[in-house]
Amino acid sequence: MKELELLKKLNDMHPQAECELNFSTPYQLLVAVILSAQCTDKRVNLVTKHLFERYDTPEKILSLSQEGLEKEIKSCGFYHNKAKNILAATEILVNEFNGVVPRDRDVLETLPGVGRKTANVVYAVAFGGNAIPVDTHVFRLSHRLDLSSQNTPFGVEKDLMARFPEEEWSKLHHLLIHHGRYVCKAQSPCCGNCLLTDMCAYYQQKRRESKGSK
Ligand code: SF4
Repeated sequence: MKELELLKKLNDMHPQAECELNFSTPYQLLVAVILSAQCTDKRVNLVTKHLFERYDTPEKILSLSQEGLEKEIKSCGFYHNKAKNILAATEILVNEFNGVVPRDRDVLETLPGVGRKTANVVYAVAFGGNAIPVDTHVFRLSHRLDLSSQNTPFGVEKDLMARFPEEEWSKLHHLLIHHGRYVCKAQSPCCGNCLLTDMCAYYQQKRRESKGSK
C-alpha cells in the first residue's frame, strides 16, 4: 500500500520528526502556535523563551496590556493582531475555562485567532489526539505526492484522513512538515536527497518534461 510505504520512507528520512515549538503547557503551545503564523518556529522559540520566563500562565499574560504584549512579541511579525488575539483568547480561557485550555477542537476553534489548523495542532501535540493540521508544507507535499488534489487545507485534511490510518495522522503531519522544511522545499526541492522519487508525481512529471525537452 502506497501510504504505508510512504510513511516508512518518511520515517527513515526523519526519525526525529516532532513539533519544533517549545512549550511546557497546552496554553503555552496555543500561544506559540498563534505566534507562528507567517513566522519560523525558531523565531517563535526565541520570543517565547523570554516571554514565558516571566509570563508563563494565562493569568500572567493577562496582566500585560496590548502594547506590553506587542513589545514582547514584535519580532514574530503581525504583532498587533497576534497580541490582540492572544489577549482575547486568554481572557476567555480565564473567565470561562478556569484558565485551562479545552481539549475539544470545536471549542478551541471558537477562541479568537484559533482556526482549524491551530486547533488541530493543540489537539494533536498538547493532548495526543489524532489529527492532521494542514499547514503550507503539508498542503504542498500532499499535492506533489498526489495524495490530494483539493484546493483548500480542509479538503486536503479530509483526503489525508481518508487515506491514512487514524493512529498515524499526527505522525504523518510531523513527517510531512519536516520533509517540507528540510528536503521538499517550496522553491527548490532536494530530490537528490529524497527517498520518495519513485512515488512522487511531481518528480515524475518534472522528469518527463526534462526528457521531452531533450
Ligand atoms: S522527489 Fe522531490 S518533489 Fe518529490 S517529495 Fe521528494 S523532494 Fe519533494
